[in-house]
Amino acid sequence: MLTIAVSKGRIYAEALPLLGQAGVVPDEDPARSRKLILSTQRSDVQLLIIRATDVPTYVEYGAADLGIVGKDVLVEYGAEGLYEPLDLGIARCRLMIARRQGGMVQPARRRLRVATKYVKTAQRHFARQGIQADVIKLYGSMELAPLVGLADCIVDLVDTGNTLRANGLEPHELIMEVSSRLIVNKAAMKMKHASIKAFIRQLKASLPNDSKHSPKPPCPTSTSPA
Ligand code: AMP
Repeated sequence: MLTIAVSKGRIYAEALPLLGQAGVVPDEDPARSRKLILSTQRSDVQLLIIRATDVPTYVEYGAADLGIVGKDVLVEYGAEGLYEPLDLGIARCRLMIARRQGGMVQPARRRLRVATKYVKTAQRHFARQGIQADVIKLYGSMELAPLVGLADCIVDLVDTGNTLRANGLEPHELIMEVSSRLIVNKAAMKMKHASIKAFIRQLKASLPNDSKHSPKPPCPTSTSPA
């Protein structure tokens, strides 16, 4: 049996056609079902439906053999105990610093305050730039923080930029391009080598050629330095 961990929502929706090419068609729709383990039309493959941030943990500890997860999550939570054999090119977006439209990011008399759920990634980014920043952990609705004076800027995922615009914010600086990756438990890669290799081959064959290496064209960003 191969167990694949995946999160609901955009990653699941975009992974479905790829999984389908490998014969992995879930018997139920997780949006309608409360089940957390989904059987599939392949009797040797099941899906675990879990939070995106939990996918690396399930795979690292071997509760799932494979997982599909955003690069943002892998970078933030670390992925040392995992293989990452395939960029699936799905759920593409950008991890960006965003600020109030036309607003200055760097305050004059105190440290920069940054609101984000990507605390480690943000700390690393500002440290690399030699900017002293206090990173405030939030769990959602990051866009609100600069509007009410909680933070000078946010670090969050941006796709179309509509959420930023709707809240009077603008992209300021790219931290990294994000897409979903296939991850594999190291022990499973040895123990179930043939079936995992075959599955990776099937997924790879179903990827459009241009999705393997070419990043999405950038959304409009401000070019002024932080
Ligand atoms: P957008 O308005 O299209 O720029 O999307 C931004 C919102 O969608 C933010 O709340 C992001 O956290 C979320 N988002 C965008 N892309 C992704 C993704 N690939 N995975 C998860 N959340 C995303």
